[in-house]
Amino acid sequence: MAASPTDVFCDRLRALVDIDSPSEGREQEAVAELIGTWLAPIGCTQQWVHEPDNPARSLIVTLPGDGGPAIALLGHPDTVFAAGTTARWSFTRAGDLCTGPGVADMKGGLVLAAMAVERLAAVPERPFSELRLLICADEEVRLRAPAAAAHARGAAAALVFECGRRNGDLVSARKGALWRTLHLHGRPAHAGADTALGRSAVSALAHEILRIEGLVEGRPDMTSVVTTVTAGDSANTVPGEARATIDIRSGVAADLEHAHAELERPSPYEGVRAEVSDRGTWPPMPVAEGLVRIALDHARDLGLDIGTELSGGVSDGCWTGAGGIPTLDGLGPVGGDDHTEAEWIEVATFERRLELVVRLIRSICGGRMRPTA
Ligand SMILES: [Zn+2]
Repeated sequence: MAASPTDVFCDRLRALVDIDSPSEGREQEAVAELIGTWLAPIGCTQQWVHEPDNPARSLIVTLPGDGGPAIALLGHPDTVFAAGTTARWSFTRAGDLCTGPGVADMKGGLVLAAMAVERLAAVPERPFSELRLLICADEEVRLRAPAAAAHARGAAAALVFECGRRNGDLVSARKGALWRTLHLHGRPAHAGADTALGRSAVSALAHEILRIEGLVEGRPDMTSVVTTVTAGDSANTVPGEARATIDIRSGVAADLEHAHAELERPSPYEGVRAEVSDRGTWPPMPVAEGLVRIALDHARDLGLDIGTELSGGVSDGCWTGAGGIPTLDGLGPVGGDDHTEAEWIEVATFERRLELVVRLIRSICGGRMRPTA
């Protein structure tokens, strides 16, 4: 008896999950390479893309078609788990649940995307010019867009395979983010004998925390949180140094531009110099109404009772969405508890979600959605 699509999915997922692929390591190339190996027999070509900011390369796997729009499928091969994790926590399937490092974020989605490409290659007519699977390295740690994102250019749609939400929902929009570190440099001095000579970086930071978190005033979509602070050297010294990490998010690009300008303004505290370093800037991913409508129509036809949601987390869909390509995310298997050792996916809905993606791509190519890019 031939293996079911779910069994094939689980076997392949095991192979990907059991490769340790921490961000900033070259091991993640082995994940991309294996996917390329699966897709080579159906005529896919491969192109490695050098990422200037990171050691690992991205891989573009392309299935040529017979004409029509190009579609980009996006995923990342890196996980937040350190090298050696799979030696004690490897892929496990227990009934409908699978666990293992990166099973939901997002090796499950990569396998699903690869199997969708195979399905679309198997029919005699391929109503697309190209299906381009972009396996973008170091998504978990990158400060900027991957160089590989340029290969989505001109696509009629970008489909992103981060896992579906717990209730099966797709991700129709994502907030953008500004991650910064604020360094304040004052002047240390003896807290009792030379108090007036000191310039307290902690006092300045206290004001800055209230100002930065207050940037959300009148901006209902925005969050601004000072997430960590460190300061001071001794209990009897005016503190000369203070440092804070800042996490600002919004679905409205203008909110992030406003916050950026406010963080870059010169320090108003006499004798305290402020310096801001960039830990990442991600644009919001806007809703692509046409894509959402088609996807939910097909979901209904397949008996999947799902909707869409706005996520506060970023993905590489932020880059394609901000680049004007209609983008839909959360197309991977249903899963959750990402970035923890409780990470899981549920395989019971896999076959219908695979079918959803196949039908969605056919509909986009069949002209049910006007290409805009
Ligand atoms: Zn992810």
